[in-house]
Amino acid sequence: MESTVSEYWTLFTENATAVALPFVTAALAALLIVSLLRYRRLNRQVEGLSAEMGFANRSLRNADRDLRTLFDQSAIAVMLLDATKKSVLYANETAMTAFGVRTEDQLTTDVMQKPDAWPASPYSLLDFEETIFRTSRSGLQKFEWYFEPAGRRPVWLDSSLSIISYKSGQALMFTGVNITDRKHAEKADRFRHKAMTSMANDNGLHITLDHLAAMAEARLPGSSCGVMVHDHERGRLRWVGGHSVPKFFSEAMDGLPVAFGAASSGTAVFIRGRVVARDIRSDDRWDRHRDEAESAGLRACWSEPVIGSSGELLGTFDVYHEDPWTPADDDIDALTDPIAITSLAIERYLAKGQLEHMVLSEQMVRRISTDLLTLDPEETDEGLASTCRSLGDFYRADRVFLCQLDDTSQQVWISHEWAGEGFESLRQVSGRKYPVIPASLDKVFDGKPSVIFSADSQIPPQLDFLKELLALEGQQSVLLAMVHRGDRMSGILGIQMTSAVNPWTPQRSQTAELMANLFGSALNRSQLLHSLTYQAVHDQLTGLYNRHKIESFMDQEVARCSRYGSTFSVIIFDLDNFKSINDRFGHNEGDAVLASVSVLVGKGIRESEIAGRWGGEEFLIILPETPLDSAVPVADRLRVSVESHRFSIPEPVSISVGVAAFRPGDSPHELIQRADAALYSAKESGRNCVKSSF
Ligand code: GH3
Ligand code: MG
Ligand code: MG
Repeated sequence: MESTVSEYWTLFTENATAVALPFVTAALAALLIVSLLRYRRLNRQVEGLSAEMGFANRSLRNADRDLRTLFDQSAIAVMLLDATKKSVLYANETAMTAFGVRTEDQLTTDVMQKPDAWPASPYSLLDFEETIFRTSRSGLQKFEWYFEPAGRRPVWLDSSLSIISYKSGQALMFTGVNITDRKHAEKADRFRHKAMTSMANDNGLHITLDHLAAMAEARLPGSSCGVMVHDHERGRLRWVGGHSVPKFFSEAMDGLPVAFGAASSGTAVFIRGRVVARDIRSDDRWDRHRDEAESAGLRACWSEPVIGSSGELLGTFDVYHEDPWTPADDDIDALTDPIAITSLAIERYLAKGQLEHMVLSEQMVRRISTDLLTLDPEETDEGLASTCRSLGDFYRADRVFLCQLDDTSQQVWISHEWAGEGFESLRQVSGRKYPVIPASLDKVFDGKPSVIFSADSQIPPQLDFLKELLALEGQQSVLLAMVHRGDRMSGILGIQMTSAVNPWTPQRSQTAELMANLFGSALNRSQLLHSLTYQAVHDQLTGLYNRHKIESFMDQEVARCSRYGSTFSVIIFDLDNFKSINDRFGHNEGDAVLASVSVLVGKGIRESEIAGRWGGEEFLIILPETPLDSAVPVADRLRVSVESHRFSIPEPVSISVGVAAFRPGDSPHELIQRADAALYSAKESGRNCVKSSF
């Protein structure tokens, strides 16, 4: 059986091999073909996939590049920061420009890792780090970031910080929009508001102008501004607003004269126009102030005149720079507003000053006019002198004086005066009278109530005496105001100033003219009262004392001699045959004789002796401290002087004289009675003789 199986198997294998071989070969070939086809398909798939991968990689790279390109060209500053390493992974151009660096590495080393690179500012690096810390804890942070890049102008960034996935980790993304211009505009607006408020509240001109200078500085970043106010009176500029320049510099500029070559500001007012000193070092107009500018680190100055609503020069607005600089059109536009408000502020200040001056001068005029009009005529001199002093104080003058003019004698003299400290008084010469032709003085005034002379303007020859006395020089000036009596000139009020170039504003001149009128009426009033008093005690025809006054002198002398036990004498005389003089030559000639006799009386007595008209053609003379034996020769000399005088009538005139001396216990009446008796005796003795009675 075993052999059968193996036989069959052998038979079978021999036959099967022969039968199957072609089939197997074919099957193998088919398998190979299928595998080959499959391999090729797989290969194509792999190729496709790797092409796809390459494309994806390229796209990724492109996307990154596009993003960077996008950021690089963005006006927003973008940075990717590694918070732990404090390094900058990426920064776009805008960010680098904002920080003033050129590369990301520089940003890391020079800025991020170097707190010293950040000058102190409200938002220092510390705050920034804090923000980074907060971002990593609580996500997106938004903030305004102010910083001052070394050596460059301050920058404001409207910033945000957020965490983003970056490469296989995380990074901080910083974005910042530069809002510096907006911030400057806001700052300028704030100062503008402050200036307007301080102007409305009358906080003081310097405060308002400080704000306006700050406003201009905000509008012109990198500049330091100052506002100078024109002191018209002194012809100078005062530094009133702006304190960004060193103090010593503003102090040196303060008081600049208005002149060509007085730095930019003085020149700008002088020429009424813009002055730009691009480089102070080489600008002629800065010759006298170059050193101060140099020490203050200022190289350029643009000075713009500030002009008021009626064209008057109120001051200058000055813009300084540390480097040579010249304003562009935009800068000029930027300064228009601050200048307009400055003009408003100065005008308002001046108007307020004028108002105060008006109130003050009104008060002064009222006080002085009351003083002068209620002045006791006896005290007119003191009153006028003290008014001169008040005027001197009011005007801050150096001298105030009053000249009086006498039409009849054609003379002028300084009657009252007040001189300030260091000014010699004219008083020692005030008694001196100077000849003048009154009509020629009118020409000096030429119809105007006042005239002003300075050292430069020639004082006319009519006033040569004033020229000599005042000796004007340098910045001195004098205002002369006409003093009137009715429609005629009776004097001149003079106010002399040394410290001002142009002290005489219309208001101040008008006040002086008003004062001259008050002086005039005070003088007239005093003269009127003086003449009334004179008339009350004097005889009109002879100018000697009248009977009433002589009687009161008699009473005084009697009282005095009774008290001290002394004596005095009385001379009484009467013209001889005067009736016949009247009859033959007329009453007027008689009056003329009486007037001539009184002149002889005046000449014949001493100053201490008192003469008066006793009545008709009778005269009385009181000789104080004179006993009878001394009085008789006086009487006789008088008699002789009348007898020997040639009167206007072709006839000699004579007098009969009675003399009596006071005896203790005498009443005035008793004494006169004795003198009268002596006179009667003289008449009895044939006239033209002297008789005395003890
Ligand atoms: P006898 O020598 O005695 O004094 O004579 P007589 O003429 O002067 O007489 P008597 O003294 O009585 O006369 C005074 C005269 O003087 C009277 C009067 O007409 C005159 N007479 C008085 N007052 C004035 C005056 O003011 N002017 C003038 N022209 N005459 C006067
Ligand atoms: Mg007589
Ligand atoms: Mg008589």
